[in-house]
Amino acid sequence: MSSIRLPSVDTLLRAPACAPLYQRYGRNALLGTLRDLLDELREPARHGQLAALELSEAVLAGRAGERLANQHRSRVRRVFNLTGTVLHTNLGRALLPDEAIEAITLAARYPLNLEFDLATGKRGDRDDLIEGLIRELTGAEAVTVVNNNAAAVLLALNSLGARKEGIISRGELIEIGGAFRIPDIMARAGVKLHEVGTTNRTHAKDYEAAINPRSGLLMRVHTSNYSVQGFTASVATAELAQIAHAHGLPLLEDLGSGSLVDLSRWGLPNEPTVQEALRDGADIVTFSGDKLLGGPQAGLIVGRRELIDKIKKNPLKRALRVDKLTLAALEAVLNLYRDPDRLGERLTSLRLLSRPQADIRIQAERLAPALAGALGEPWQVVVEDALGMIGSGAQPVARLPSAALCIRPQQPRRLRGRSLRLLEEALRELPIPILGRVADDALWLDLRQLDDEPAFLAQLPHLKQALAS
Ligand SMILES: *Cc1c(COP(=O)(O)O)cnc(C)c1O
Repeated sequence: MSSIRLPSVDTLLRAPACAPLYQRYGRNALLGTLRDLLDELREPARHGQLAALELSEAVLAGRAGERLANQHRSRVRRVFNLTGTVLHTNLGRALLPDEAIEAITLAARYPLNLEFDLATGKRGDRDDLIEGLIRELTGAEAVTVVNNNAAAVLLALNSLGARKEGIISRGELIEIGGAFRIPDIMARAGVKLHEVGTTNRTHAKDYEAAINPRSGLLMRVHTSNYSVQGFTASVATAELAQIAHAHGLPLLEDLGSGSLVDLSRWGLPNEPTVQEALRDGADIVTFSGDKLLGGPQAGLIVGRRELIDKIKKNPLKRALRVDKLTLAALEAVLNLYRDPDRLGERLTSLRLLSRPQADIRIQAERLAPALAGALGEPWQVVVEDALGMIGSGAQPVARLPSAALCIRPQQPRRLRGRSLRLLEEALRELPIPILGRVADDALWLDLRQLDDEPAFLAQLPHLKQALAS
């Protein structure tokens, strides 16, 4: 092949083949991409390594189109969470119900009374929008909401215990994923850590003995993501509240996930409820919006009016406040709690958490042949019972009986690891990536959370293509 001339970037920019790209991505992006493309082709063209066809306007426009599409694809991608962990922190935790999605859309599209009291025409407080509802549901005197529960703990500690000692059991000095550690948060909040008891056993007398003139508060943390079993003892909220109040100190309880309803009603392991903690005497209770509550990311702080007022006056509150979209979604989700009888159908996360294993199995059996067809000979697809998890640190030992599509490579053992890694990669590269879990030389797709079957089936031809190439 002899050397051929490249088209000029201006000619290409005006070429009819590039017109749709110009329309879609604008002049700047198209120009940059064409320049890059031509730069890369200059050397091979000079050395006669390209056929004329490879430099045709249609082919160049096609390549530019692919690059532009890739660059402009959103980095925020929908995925299928078939890992078996329902409230998966890395995959966005709770899925919101339609009511909340509609509320978000409304709040995004129109002005709203975020901090405006429509009754008086005066400036309002954004917490007022949900305070009545949370008080009604929890029995709390007052409420404030911040960005997440980590922020709620930081803010409450700083507001009530700065420059004083916070007394807490050694068994509750926990780390939550993502570098949230109770001792570190206390330090950042300006509260001096006063740890009592031992890792496995802490008694009322340990707290009593620790109280001194520098004490600012007692704290109790729900050890959400690990379980203390065996020879253990801890002091219940009611008893701890009595000790705190006898010395004029507040008791702050971080429930982590927390729940507003008794989950055993839906066959789920029970989590301590916010109502119980308040009834037992906790003065301030903090919990997450996007764990078992099933709402948007938020940190709820509920409790005694006088303490909440103090928290609201802290300048940190302004730095940690929630935005209007979160508030809109939170209100919609909390509203569903007014009718506990229908909560199991209406609250998306609860519906998924409580899906019966038999339903999931039927779904798995329905989908297995299509998946086997797409994967082809080298793979075996069987429906297996599986055990999932709630996730987000709620009930770490509890398991959710489920069913999975279990994919096994039909190969000698030593080759299976590599095949499974390639399969996982192919699944991650689908238009809607499918995320499962590798265990026992197989890839497990736990179907508890598979709502959108048509979208799942639509991935299979792409999978077949990816595995064939
Ligand atoms: C999850 C959790 C937190 C942090 O909550 P986020 O909403 O993730 O910020 C704090 N404390 C406990 C006990 C938790 O389980």
